[in-house]
Amino acid sequence: MDYLSNYINGKKVPAKGEKWIDVFHPAKGKVYAQLPDSQAADVEEAYQAAKAAFPEWSNTTIEYRSEMLEKIASAIEARHEELAQAESKDNGKPISLARRVDIYRAAANFRFFSKAITQYSSEAHHTAGMNVMNYTIRKPIGVVGCISPWNLPLYLFSWKIAPALAAGNTVVAKPSEVTPYTASMLADILDEVGLPKGVLNIVHGLGGSTGQAIVEHPDITAISFTGGTTTGAHIARVAAPMFKKLSLELGGKNPNIIFADCNFEQMLKTTVQSSFSNQGQICLCGSRIYVERSLYSKFKKAFVEATEKLRVGMPNEDATQVGALVSEEHLNKVLSYVQKAKEEGGKILTGGNRITKEGFASGYFMEPTIIELDSNDCTINRDEVFGPVVTIMPFDTEEEVLGYANATKYGLSATLWTENLSRTMRMTEEIQAGIVWVNTWLTRDLRTPFGGVKASGVGREGGFYALDFFTEPKNICIRF
Ligand code: NDP
Repeated sequence: MDYLSNYINGKKVPAKGEKWIDVFHPAKGKVYAQLPDSQAADVEEAYQAAKAAFPEWSNTTIEYRSEMLEKIASAIEARHEELAQAESKDNGKPISLARRVDIYRAAANFRFFSKAITQYSSEAHHTAGMNVMNYTIRKPIGVVGCISPWNLPLYLFSWKIAPALAAGNTVVAKPSEVTPYTASMLADILDEVGLPKGVLNIVHGLGGSTGQAIVEHPDITAISFTGGTTTGAHIARVAAPMFKKLSLELGGKNPNIIFADCNFEQMLKTTVQSSFSNQGQICLCGSRIYVERSLYSKFKKAFVEATEKLRVGMPNEDATQVGALVSEEHLNKVLSYVQKAKEEGGKILTGGNRITKEGFASGYFMEPTIIELDSNDCTINRDEVFGPVVTIMPFDTEEEVLGYANATKYGLSATLWTENLSRTMRMTEEIQAGIVWVNTWLTRDLRTPFGGVKASGVGREGGFYALDFFTEPKNICIRF
């Protein structure tokens, strides 16, 4: 059994309390590690370390911080396989995905922001005729809080930490208690590369205790949070009276809109990925699939066939395409949505069940599931399920499908499949989402704004948007 510790002021330290949380191996359904449920006193210790480190860190040169982040990126790459194995074990995701996406991207996040900060500059406005010059400096905020979810553990943890550090802040960070392992390995990496003590502090524990203590801390004045919409709303309520700066990356219920003129093979292959990658536990997965009626039966047959060919297996096996869901509680939640969909008239075309065959019974495996609907107005198309479950439904007109796509409280991403340029231009303008992909999915350029509208969040991360969030602009006006 592994016991994870907090990482505060450059040291692994035990939490002050006695409460421990079990960490499960989702493919086996067994506890393999424990982590402390850190309380307000632990968060305070982390805050004090971050506060003490801030003056020096925020006054380092950009080159120095850039070099530090670059070293972290290289150290992650040097441990790529070890981290991928750990992520796959902790989360249940296929090892191939952990290698190709999670750990690759964690290193890429640090490397990207090591370079982005060297290109980040502020503005000057010369008011001609008045002898006035305004210029704006961007200062780091101070001690910031970063809170991340379980679906892409190190990937999303580093997505927040890297820009926060690059901009000169010091950080108190909490990974999800469900998948804390790679964050704890990151602490070893920080030691190895010699990140000054107190610059990044990692505190483990439950959202309701550790996370809450970070959000409630009066002097942690900016919070970058990725997680569920309900938690995001709660954080916003706690933070608002203290006027904290907030970046909220929340849930999604993303439409995947397929027109008959699409490149069918490319669309099919990508749609299988956008439906079931990471067991459907990616905020960007396209869980509502709408298909133009003239293509519908061809699509339905081919999509069901392709889905049934997916290899559900042990996460640590190279050939596995679909692994285990993250926890039993989450699996049961996903299954309850399938049940509800059936009660509301949905037809299961494939899947729908927990996998209980030999070797799988104690793990949290579920069949990739496709549900056919004849109405968009149902729970499964309203709520975020966050599992290997998608719905399909035909449509006749552009206007009709636009109505379906926007009939949700969420607005994170959307995917559109068509070769028609005018339609692309019309639809991409009208779809209510922060990100629209056309003839692709999850293709990312880290310079672009990332985030959602409506209940999918507030603010944007990525590129200079993240650096804007993690700095405070100060305008100086001089008459000369
Ligand atoms: P949660 O909202 O349950 O948790 C996210 C993080 O917040 C966890 O570290 C959690 O801790 C913590 N937390 C929970 N309660 C509080 C609180 N009161 N104060 C402070 N922190 C708290 O989300 P999940 O981990 O279940 O992640 C899945 C969700 O994340 C989905 O809705 C998904 O769409 C969304 N997501 C959004 C993305 C985006 O970019 N828009 C990307 C990826 C996921 P603990 O684990 O202990 O509960």
